[in-house]
Amino acid sequence: MNELETLLESNKEWAANKVQVDKDFFRRLQDQQSPKFLWIGCSDSRVPANEITNTDPGEIFVHRNVANMVVHTDLNLLTVLAYAVSVLKVEHVLVVGHYGCGGVKAAMTNQNLGIINPWLKHIKDVYRLHRDEINSLESETEQANRLVELNVQEQVMNLSKTSIIQEAWQQERRPHLHGWVYGISNGIINPIFNMPAGTHIDPIYEFE
Ligand code: ZN
Repeated sequence: MNELETLLESNKEWAANKVQVDKDFFRRLQDQQSPKFLWIGCSDSRVPANEITNTDPGEIFVHRNVANMVVHTDLNLLTVLAYAVSVLKVEHVLVVGHYGCGGVKAAMTNQNLGIINPWLKHIKDVYRLHRDEINSLESETEQANRLVELNVQEQVMNLSKTSIIQEAWQQERRPHLHGWVYGISNGIINPIFNMPAGTHIDPIYEFE
């Protein structure tokens, strides 16, 4: 059996198991989804949203990119955010980074990575904002892990600067924003930053 056939076989087994435990599982999901969470995570294959939170299909709306970034001009991210907040009406938006993130580590080097450079520049901006704190740490690993945490925090703040989030906060006092960092070495999520709905932000970013 080749690799693709293995995937398809595993899929059949998984679907059969789901139905065995709960015969209406797929029928319930057929016509609608009502997830309470939007997950903005890293594309890293070791950080799958549903698996590490022990949740099922239908429970988390997911967007992933390299280093879980919220870039203001990223129409892909903004479309996901608008749909999750305005149509699905999620209660929480989670930005989930992870220790040992390759994107964050690459951003800390001076390597020219071609087409990847513009994306990593957004992480370099976070480094520049917090350079003193990061450089005060001794090892490269500690520095990279702190940048992972600070990057998650900055991306949560970027969410709060969008008109999508601000309108939802004004009209419906939701969603709450959260920054988490997942530990690849132990499987545990470390909550590091919160912005409850309605949190005041730097006035220059506030819309009328
Ligand atoms: Zn990563």
